[in-house]
Amino acid sequence: MGSSRKHACIQGRTNTSRLYLFGLLLVAASCQGDSSPSPDRALPEPLPELPEPSKADRDKAQLVRIDVYGAATDDAAGARVVLLFEGAPLFRQKQLPANGMLPARIAIELEDVEWGAGVPVSQFVERGGLRRVRLATPNPRVVLDLQPGATGRLFYLTDPYRIVVDVSAVSRLRQKRRPLVVLDPGHGGREPGAANERHGLVESQVALDLAELTASRLSAIMPRVRVMLTRSTDVDLSLEERCALANAMEADAFVSIHLNASSEPVRKGGVTTFVLDTTNNRQALRLAARENGTRVAEVTGIQSLLAKHHRRTQAKGSRTLAGKIQRHTLKRGRSVLPKLSDRGVRQAMFYVLVGARMPSVLLEASFLTYEPEARALTHRNYRRALADGIASGIASYLLGR
Ligand SMILES: [Zn+2]
Repeated sequence: MGSSRKHACIQGRTNTSRLYLFGLLLVAASCQGDSSPSPDRALPEPLPELPEPSKADRDKAQLVRIDVYGAATDDAAGARVVLLFEGAPLFRQKQLPANGMLPARIAIELEDVEWGAGVPVSQFVERGGLRRVRLATPNPRVVLDLQPGATGRLFYLTDPYRIVVDVSAVSRLRQKRRPLVVLDPGHGGREPGAANERHGLVESQVALDLAELTASRLSAIMPRVRVMLTRSTDVDLSLEERCALANAMEADAFVSIHLNASSEPVRKGGVTTFVLDTTNNRQALRLAARENGTRVAEVTGIQSLLAKHHRRTQAKGSRTLAGKIQRHTLKRGRSVLPKLSDRGVRQAMFYVLVGARMPSVLLEASFLTYEPEARALTHRNYRRALADGIASGIASYLLGR
């Protein structure tokens, strides 16, 4: 990548490390993006103590409605319960463990609140971690009965006043359901990534094409596997959103697809697959800075903190996945370009991988700035070969688990 073709994402994102640290401490598991950390995407965690509306100048509130969202399918990963009020209620929340016949539950104790005649006394859900929502007395309260292992977090919104509980289902369902692979075409929208002007190649477009080819190939060789793309058009997508989707869907593997580039002339290109880790390798740091849209100094400054949040078991799965993708992509790629270089599996600090709660890798499938590979990328058969390789690598990983 020549200096004249600077990554769009480098601009306007150089000052996000503090924001990032804040987000990390807040949720410990969402990816860095250029949007501010979203509490809605936080991991389920012990319910925090919330400030309550002051008792002064308050009319008696009424519970008008209870809505349940997101639990539409048997394998829903979660559910959202919204209590809608007229006026602002006083409430206290309690998280209660399973006890004899009673399941684990979240109780929202209401003070001085009436409920409307239309609010059902009991709503059975039995999905998304939520068994049912019920009203209980004598101290008026709304109780969410949870399915085993499910957790919830509560927050409130005003105007109109709503108490919202996000329930996260246990991953027990994961054993039975079909494996899900999330493919993440790098960049997009205002962040085109690297480019090769001579051949008219733009990283975001090539990555999207490779992801689509990989998806159809993977579906063909493993019909049981579900495949999702983080984006299917040329749109902006924050790094945070990319892995949040994979987390929300409880994906089994997350593969971010990119094309490499170098500001200096390269004598050889090649395929590299990255797993998340700390590194002091200068080249890896430079690449990470480019893909993250930050400066090298910021990458080194926060990497040790980030690494702590990457779980060990997940790191092992990521290394296995990376090894398979690297090997198969290289093998298929060499059917078109026999001299395609093996740059190996490496470690780097890619924000897009930080928050992922499943084995996750970032693939640099070829070099846009290495002439033979750039030229090959203008042809369908080379892209197809790379996609076949990526798909075979993922399939081999899923089969070997
Ligand atoms: Zn990239």
